Amino acid sequence: MEQTNGNLSIPLTCGKCGSNNSVFVHNLTSTTRCRTCRAIVTPVAEPVCVGASSIVDLLEGAKVPVLAVFFDLRSGPCRVAAPDVNLLAHKVGGRALVVKVDAGACPELAIACGAHSFPYFLLLKGSERMLEHHGAAPETEMRRWLQPVTQSDGCLRPSRMAGFIDRYMRLLQGAQTMFWPWIRSGVRVQST
Ligand SMILES: [Zn+2]
Repeated sequence: MEQTNGNLSIPLTCGKCGSNNSVFVHNLTSTTRCRTCRAIVTPVAEPVCVGASSIVDLLEGAKVPVLAVFFDLRSGPCRVAAPDVNLLAHKVGGRALVVKVDAGACPELAIACGAHSFPYFLLLKGSERMLEHHGAAPETEMRRWLQPVTQSDGCLRPSRMAGFIDRYMRLLQGAQTMFWPWIRSGVRVQST
């Protein structure tokens, strides 16, 4: 049974013809084909930037473990960590999703998720909170966190964490999604 949690999609560029394909979050690990030339489109291999309004859809739609990275732009360690986060997303593409959350743009979300200093890493697999870590870490260490959760197969249940965040966010009137302008790497989720 397929759950469609909104219409959250991620734009993926076809390596063959260069056209842009919107791939729904729940299809990110399936084989997709380019709508223009039918070539196979490889899974997302960049961090996905989400805000308060899209993280719930992403967590509920993802069929792979999600490593959420909460950044604060004023923090030096966050800037130091950014290249390693990008490299990690590249290496685990198709097996896990790396998402970036600008804690400055959605502080309530960061607090709800347990962040009290930045960068803050939260690894979620389905309904389970697998790991949390405060402070920058090298790519090799982050990949080690992901190893046990990306090796085992099995269908993920919709995230209880996502439900929790959803309820929390509903309490906040007029929560705005603001993408931070200066960590440009990473794709933006879009609602179609
Ligand atoms: Zn194509």
